[in-house]
Amino acid sequence: MIDPDEDNRNCPACEEICPWHDEVLALRQKVEELSELVSTDALTGLYNFRHFKNVLQAEMDRSKRSGIPTSLVLLDIDHFKQVNDTHGHEIGNQALCHLAEILRGEVRTTDIVCRYGGEEFALVFPETHLNLAVKVADRIRLEIQDTPAQTDAGELRMTVSMGASVYMKTSAQDIDEFVDSVDKFLYEAKQSGRNCICHVDYQTLRSATEIGADERALLMSTRAES
Ligand code: GH3
Ligand code: MG
Ligand code: MG
Repeated sequence: MIDPDEDNRNCPACEEICPWHDEVLALRQKVEELSELVSTDALTGLYNFRHFKNVLQAEMDRSKRSGIPTSLVLLDIDHFKQVNDTHGHEIGNQALCHLAEILRGEVRTTDIVCRYGGEEFALVFPETHLNLAVKVADRIRLEIQDTPAQTDAGELRMTVSMGASVYMKTSAQDIDEFVDSVDKFLYEAKQSGRNCICHVDYQTLRSATEIGADERALLMSTRAES
């Protein structure tokens, strides 16, 4: 029943004593629960692909405005099909949950960990330069390599391959192009023998942020004249 002493700012009709008070609160709660479900992966509890795309786009927009880069790491479990083939899908699922736990535990609360697809994960590092993201990613890689999953079929060791890149104010890529570019580095990591991380060359990044020789000359001559 409605408590007349309660704050009725929740009333959709702004009535002093809200006849729908309980119903409104219950619906709000339901909306919150559903919103969480829509953005969460059911198996691991990590954010899902839909949320990943939304967050990454928002962070790319923020980088454009602020000039502070967003780093992205894609991660794929090595030879995961063998895990399923040898132990079955359920044990594979336990291994995926174990990996999700490691990812959750190794990043800052501001970083976003998502299950990108089957045995692929994405780490979005807002306001983070590539060198720091790579450092964190490599620490995660070693943690995964050194911490076997405890499954119903016993201990299970895994390794992961990773690709990484960074989105900066000067970047001209859209979200799909940015993700594709990171995916190419992930592919390179697989080709390089797995259990490693490949990323965009730091030298390439430096030259992309440097102003051109013409621009520099113009700036210097302007300064000389003033
Ligand atoms: P690579 O090192 O090249 O990545 O080899 P891989 O075996 O990991 O790659 P591949 O793409 O051949 O296999 C991925 C496997 O991931 C196949 C599929 O059975 C498994 N997988 C995808 N989603 C799930 C899932 O939700 N649960 C389980 N248990 N397995 C999954
Ligand atoms: Mg894969
Ligand atoms: Mg794989």
